[in-house]
Amino acid sequence: MSRRLLLGGVLLAATTAALADDRFKDVVVTSTPVSGAVHMLLGAGGNIAASIGEDGTLIVDDQFAPLAGRIQDALNDIGGAAPRIIINTHFHGDHTGSNAEFGRNGTIIAHDNVRARLVAEDIPRTGLPLVTFDDRLSVHFNGDLIELLHLPEGHTDGDAVVWFKGAGVVHLGDHFFNGFYPFVDVASGGSIEGYLRNQSTVIDRVPEDAKIIPGHGPLASVEDLARTQNVIRHSYALVREQLEKGTSKQDIAAALDAEYPTWGTGFISAAGWIDIIQSNLD
Ligand SMILES: [Zn+2]
Repeated sequence: MSRRLLLGGVLLAATTAALADDRFKDVVVTSTPVSGAVHMLLGAGGNIAASIGEDGTLIVDDQFAPLAGRIQDALNDIGGAAPRIIINTHFHGDHTGSNAEFGRNGTIIAHDNVRARLVAEDIPRTGLPLVTFDDRLSVHFNGDLIELLHLPEGHTDGDAVVWFKGAGVVHLGDHFFNGFYPFVDVASGGSIEGYLRNQSTVIDRVPEDAKIIPGHGPLASVEDLARTQNVIRHSYALVREQLEKGTSKQDIAAALDAEYPTWGTGFISAAGWIDIIQSNLD
């Protein structure tokens, strides 16, 4: 059954859609050149990478459905067209929301588990990946070799990192919240240990001077990624130790805010991070 029917009728669905649109009414989608043919687009939701060149337009992630038109306008402004290829780093709605629109003409590519999870969510047929892969996949586009590498059991069970090898740019999806505590979706097959291990895989493999597009937050370097990984590792150890001692969540959150004052100001607060760590331990 579709979510629309569950909500009890077309009128209510239309009202819900209007409210959702309203939430995004002030969002402006902007772009910034990164390297070679690769640009980064910012709006609301996950950051987008776009490759624009003689083969056309390819994008990595597509934010929320009400933003599809503004994403297309931003692509057009930098010489792009309707995307031929759309890569999803994982299934979350703030990264796949415009799939149904872009998938009408473009080919969506994602990990096997992304398709399975989107099918389970009953999203429109045009929003489903047409091409899926398990461990890795190569895409040849705009003169670049784009390597999709599955990162197992990290943010979810279906994440991929997208490495534009020629341009030296890596889109990390939600394996990188630049400067903030991460959301680790334990209920969807993610784990903090896997998340840290996957970040190490990327740090070890990509060139030191690679430009890193995080799932959320500003454009980054490999050094920024390593710094974020350190905070995750240390705060995770601190929280585990205090939970084992029986310290209250409130006191642990205060300790985190004292040690990492800015890290709980994004999508995930210090208290939220403690909840994620606890769910990871259960
Ligand atoms: Zn996510």
